[in-house]
Amino acid sequence: MNKSVCDVPMRTSFPVPERVDRKNNPEGSVISIKGNDIGGKGVIIIAGPCAVESKEQLFETARKVISDGARILRGGAFKPRSSPYSFQGMGEEGLKLLNEISSETGMPVVTEVMDTRQIELVSQYADMLQIGSRNMQNYPLLKEAGHSKKPILLKRGMMATVEEFLLAAEYILSHGNEQVVLCERGIRTFETSTRNTLDLNAVPMLKNLTHLPVIVDPSHGTGLRWMVPAMAKAAIAAGADGIIMEVHYSPETALCDGQQSLSPDEFAILMSDLKKIALAVGRDIL
Ligand code: PEP
Ligand code: MN
Repeated sequence: MNKSVCDVPMRTSFPVPERVDRKNNPEGSVISIKGNDIGGKGVIIIAGPCAVESKEQLFETARKVISDGARILRGGAFKPRSSPYSFQGMGEEGLKLLNEISSETGMPVVTEVMDTRQIELVSQYADMLQIGSRNMQNYPLLKEAGHSKKPILLKRGMMATVEEFLLAAEYILSHGNEQVVLCERGIRTFETSTRNTLDLNAVPMLKNLTHLPVIVDPSHGTGLRWMVPAMAKAAIAAGADGIIMEVHYSPETALCDGQQSLSPDEFAILMSDLKKIALAVGRDIL
């Protein structure tokens, strides 16, 4: 047998892109968002509404998730909606609200950028920029994110393979920004009982192939509120560095993704369960 082939343990059927390759940093990269490390021993919880809808909605939800242990606040101001008639987000007004609650509480915020033209604006208000599933292969956006100084939360495309996901991250690193956190958020399969199929295989696979931190979104991964706790726990057991989930102070009246949003009470219960799972796998909740 060819010796050089035997010497190299075969990790995948594809070459791992060079900058994201775990070989560059076998310990794993730690990305710090205002002192909150993602990729260290602690598991980080990012929570908040799908979309910023009003001051009351954002502030009440934010205060609840902070008091129960979330470290980063999420909330979309620019929303990628399937229908052009659905609520599209509050835009800059939403960004200002995110910034206001962040200054008041000290909690950093992550919010989505859908377009290269939004990066400068969103960067004035947010601590981390999210590139959503629908934009994972928006190459101009990935390149601009590479020129940004802000950490990037890159969500897996709903039709993307692990290789394509890594290549998307490689775009950002190769344009100069090494602060990238990967997010598994479910993929499209033949299954229709859930919104997406949360691919937890991707967690150990990505952790093996890349030094970048990996978090999981069980909200979009299932589309069903009652399934979120089970999949959040499973994600931590599988080795995820964090969870991002949707929480709304009144899920029934949410303008976006209410059916998959936890109430603050459900979130509080889940947080105490997640601590136990984290401890069982040698981690802790940050
Ligand atoms: C979101 O996080 O609100 C979102 C739109 O997620 P995704 O891009 O994964 O669908
Ligand atoms: Mn959502």
